[in-house]
Amino acid sequence: MYEVSVDETFAAAHNLRDYYGKCEDLHGHNYKVRVILSGKDLDSTGLLYDFVHLKQVLRGVISGLDHKYLNELAPFDKLNPSAENLARHIYEQTAEQLRQTPNSAGITSVTVWETETSAATYRP
Ligand SMILES: [Zn+2]
Repeated sequence: MYEVSVDETFAAAHNLRDYYGKCEDLHGHNYKVRVILSGKDLDSTGLLYDFVHLKQVLRGVISGLDHKYLNELAPFDKLNPSAENLARHIYEQTAEQLRQTPNSAGITSVTVWETETSAATYRP
């Protein structure tokens, strides 16, 4: 099995609804996102998936979140903008735009760090 991953970062503000603690009030994070793809076979070039295309897709998805107040953006106007929900959202948006590859490489996980020491992972 092969795995490739790309990391991206973005900055955004949020506050958690129905939560009592630090994240209840409006504040920001410098988020880090890691998308991991895996598959059993490489293509004829020796790649599992083209990093350049994966980065382009991920950057496109993240540009919709960067420097935004997440609670004002769908689906986070209704869904709490927790790291867990962000990871799933980024997974769904990214998976939709990936190229079909003959080796059927697919996303294994999306991890979102809110801080250097706190992260949430979504696995489909
Ligand atoms: Zn927070």
